[in-house]
Amino acid sequence: MDRMPLATAAAAFLYAGIAALLLFNGDRLPLQDPRIPAAVAPLNGPLGDLLNYALPALAVAGGFIALAVHALRRPGRALAISATAFAGVYTALVLLVIVDSRILSMLGYLPYLAVNAIMDPGVLASVPEQGWPVLLHQLAAVTGVGLWILTAAAAVRKHSGACITCGRKHDDGGWLSAASAGKWGTPVTLAAAAIPAVYAIIRFAWAAGIPLGISSAFLRRMQENGMVYAGLGLASMAFAGTLLTLGLIQGWGSVVPRWVPLLGGRRVPILLAVIPASFVAVVVVPAGAELIRLGLSGDTGGIPFDWTNWGTIAPAALWIFWGPLLGAAALAYYLKRRGTCGRCGLDG
Ligand SMILES: [Zn+2]
Repeated sequence: MDRMPLATAAAAFLYAGIAALLLFNGDRLPLQDPRIPAAVAPLNGPLGDLLNYALPALAVAGGFIALAVHALRRPGRALAISATAFAGVYTALVLLVIVDSRILSMLGYLPYLAVNAIMDPGVLASVPEQGWPVLLHQLAAVTGVGLWILTAAAAVRKHSGACITCGRKHDDGGWLSAASAGKWGTPVTLAAAAIPAVYAIIRFAWAAGIPLGISSAFLRRMQENGMVYAGLGLASMAFAGTLLTLGLIQGWGSVVPRWVPLLGGRRVPILLAVIPASFVAVVVVPAGAELIRLGLSGDTGGIPFDWTNWGTIAPAALWIFWGPLLGAAALAYYLKRRGTCGRCGLDG
């Protein structure tokens, strides 16, 4: 945690450096994907042209803020506010504008890809169609979100004189205490688990021939062209997501059940749950935002979306709330389990 602001500054300057090299060579940042309709991809217009130059400049500004947070023993109020505001604006820009649904779809198709690549390595050759430069740039931007959230936390902790490692100042941690997180964590985790469950139930219903949230006519059309099965992989992942989210408030999410061979009875490493949950929390937000843009654009590419056919887009549009809820659920799990701080010795 001590080194987070320095790591953020280094990453920001590295990004600015690479971007400057690209721009001076007459290239562009991999922001735009011409295969996606402009109504759904805000970067395919003038905004993308603007960000092409604005992002490197923003990275330099952010780099200096992070560097100041690192260098000062006790950052002032203005710096703490600047770091927090920068983290907020950067996170919103990345998750609502720069990143789209491709990281999540990649994640959803990974099991499919892994199984198929064993039987037919030729499958991997189709992967570059995902647009690797755009995908890698989005992954870098998402990494930046993680770095900035931790840097803002470090700035606030250093400013307020709290422990840099755990953020505690007194024995009573307020809403961040383990006891408090145990209370607010439960409803938040249940809500976070419900959103992918709704999505999965609807997709499973279609595969079973039940027109849940869609018209019978559209179900028949999807049965004819095989589309009813296309969403099953992602629905299964969503269902697994629901179960794993519930693990954040259940015993098996903290201690491996006794009946599991070799590992039974061992404590689940905290970060084993927190890191994947946080990553999913971050990448479902842009996917939800993309679905909302798609729904509002009126051009849904032949997919009906109206009061009868709400099931096509609305469940995935809810993902924009899934992200913050899952992030809060992961935070509650972390706060409940982290125990005594190795640096300041405070507990609770
Ligand atoms: Zn501490």
